[in-house]
Parts: sequence; C-alpha cells; structure tokens
Amino acid sequence: MLSKRVSHIKPAPTLALSAKINQLKAKGEDIVGFGAGEPDFDTPEFIKEACIKALKEGKTKYTPSAGILPLREALSEKLLKENKIHYNPSEIVVTAGAKMALFLTFMALLEEGDEVLLPAPYWVTYPEQILLFGAKPVIVNLDEKEGFVLTVEKLKKYITPKTKVLVLNSPSNPTGAVVPKEELQKIAELCVEKNIFIISDECYEAFVYDGEEFLSPASLSQEVRSITFTVNAFSKSFSMTGWRVGYVACPERYAKVIADLNSQSVSNATSFAQWGALEALRNPEGKAFVERMRSTFERRRNLAYELLREIPHVSVVKPKGAFYIFPNLSYYSTKLGNDLKLAEYLLEVGKVAGVPGSAFGAEGYLRLSYCLSEEDIAEGIRRIKFALEKLL
Ligand code: PMP
Repeated sequence: MLSKRVSHIKPAPTLALSAKINQLKAKGEDIVGFGAGEPDFDTPEFIKEACIKALKEGKTKYTPSAGILPLREALSEKLLKENKIHYNPSEIVVTAGAKMALFLTFMALLEEGDEVLLPAPYWVTYPEQILLFGAKPVIVNLDEKEGFVLTVEKLKKYITPKTKVLVLNSPSNPTGAVVPKEELQKIAELCVEKNIFIISDECYEAFVYDGEEFLSPASLSQEVRSITFTVNAFSKSFSMTGWRVGYVACPERYAKVIADLNSQSVSNATSFAQWGALEALRNPEGKAFVERMRSTFERRRNLAYELLREIPHVSVVKPKGAFYIFPNLSYYSTKLGNDLKLAEYLLEVGKVAGVPGSAFGAEGYLRLSYCLSEEDIAEGIRRIKFALEKLL
C-alpha cells in the first residue's frame, strides 16, 4: 500500500497538456498551443556561456545546500536594489526552482490540520503541496467582476484560529491579476495582526504592464518582513525553466531549517546552473533581455485581450501581469458539460490548446498562455472563435 499522504496526488495538468500537445505536433498535427507556462525566448547566450565555463572549470561538485555564496550575495543585492528588502545572504536559500522553494517552505511551516489561505483561481501546484503536508487549503474565491484581485475584506471571512499561512501570487498564474499597493498593505497588516505567515510567490515579478510597479510585501515593513517568505526563480524572468534554479528569502532561523531540508532531500540546486544564474544577475545585458521579453509580452497581451473580447458570450479581464489571460467561456462549456470537455473540443475541432479553468479552481474558464508569436496568437484565437461559433 502506498502512503495515504500521496493517495490524492495528481500530475501537474499543465505539464501533462504540454506533453499531449507535443505528441500531437510530433504526429504532424497543426496545433496552436496556448498551454505552455514558459517564455518562448531562448535562455540568453551569456548565461549559457557562464554555465559552460563553470562546467569546464570543474564546478561540477556538491555546493553548499543553501547555494553558492556568490549567488546568494548577488541575490541579496538584487533583493535590496529591485525589491527594497534587506536580506543577508544567510537569509537566502537557493533551490531547484521556485517549486522546490515552495515545497520546502510548506514542509517547514505546516502541521497536520493547519489551514492555508489560497486565493482562487490558483496555480495548480499549491493545493497539491499543501495537502501533501497534511494541511488544508482554504479556498478564497476571487471575483472576475473585481478583476480577480484579492481584497482584505474577502480574506477576513476565511480566517480561523487554525489559519497558519496565506499564499500570495501577484502577478497571478493563471489570471495575471496584480494586487494594488494599498490592498497589499492592508492584507499584510492583517497577517501581522493575526500571526499568519505570508508566502509571496514572485515568479512573475518581471512581467507587469501598463506602467505598474511590482511590489514585494516584505518591503512594506520590518513586521511584514518577519512573517514573509519571498519566493522567486530565474525560470520565467530569464527564460530558464529547465535550469531549475529558484530561491526563498526569509528570516535566518527559518532559512537555516529550509537549507537543512534541502540538504536532506535535493542536496543543492545544480552547481553549474547556479553559476549560470549568477551571470543572469551580474551581466548588464540581463536587464535589457528581461525588458525585451516584458515589452513583447505586453504587446501580445493587448492583442490577445482585444481579440478575445470580440467573441460573443465571452468575458475577459485585462491582465496586469504574468503571461496568461483567463477568458470566461462558461456560456460554451456548460453546453458541453464542463470546461474539460470544452478544452478537449477546442483541441479536436479547433486544433487549439489551452488549460481548463477547473485545473486552477475556476470552472468555466480557459487559461491561455501568450508565449507565442503575434501571428500564432491571432490564428489561435481565430480558431477558438470559429470552434465556439459552431456551438451556438
Ligand atoms: N509559481 C508559479 C505561480 C508558477 O507559475 C510556476 C511555474 N509554472 C512556479 C511557481 C514554478 O517555478 P519553477 O519552474 O521555478 O519551479
């Protein structure tokens, strides 16, 4: 018998979809894939070169479980300069992607029966990880009419004596919603007052649009910093999803435990990948690369939003960040039964792939990642429109 703890575990539906699309494409099918949760840019050459150099220099052995010191020093500088938070290198743990940073943080914090506030639509992995540690995800349903933005008033209703952690993910996967500063301030103050830890997943910090500024909750005050775990990665910002380098920054006594958990599980993020990640921060070209991606995604977002709005019976919130758009297709999905059936229908009839909203705790929606060319976005949405019209 397998353990009860793992009896509910499912493969990440987003990765499963990518695999299915690749399979169909390999068979020669012409599919427009809005499924991928990763930038379509290649990792910059200067990052690859730094990694190759590290390999050639023999930097191929175990590293400290918290990560190589130069990388933690560079992250400390980055967090101060860009995020306005002072973290010593001893308060930073480099992990195998943000996913592992989240996994180890949940492992460090959660006891059987603890409650974790999870705003929905949520990224697919959060509830699975929370359940693995015997805790309970408490779903805080966000409203499309409010742009899927978390508010303190909404959050208050879900707090109980068992509430231990709030998961914040702004900009959000899958909605692209960004929590405005005033609201973030109130949410953070409430967490301080109620002794609730904040896990702030900042993977999409580089992708914020309309001149908005990204804000890390830990920068708001010392009190907030003391209860916050700032999680981030190189995966999206530098288009390094396969490299598996992420990190968590938090007060030292927690960081030490997370580094120990890392040492007893993964040991360390891959040595030469860490040297590549260091170059991403150090090389002046890094910033220009990120800005090139950001402005490209902003244009694509505008295009996707305008085209989706034209489809009858579809409503869509204009995302403020990340690289996803999350149209409401419930008018059509109810005709077929549910959004899973709709996603299958779109793939079969429309030759276009997106991830059903139910994977993110939001039945009736479809997540489209706009990590593809403007031509493909236009063609893909044309196909969606065509397939949906057949259902009218
Ligand atoms: N958090 C969010 C919100 C994400 O969308 C993702 C990737 N899809 C991750 C974390 C995981 O990032 P990484 O690849 O660095 O593990």
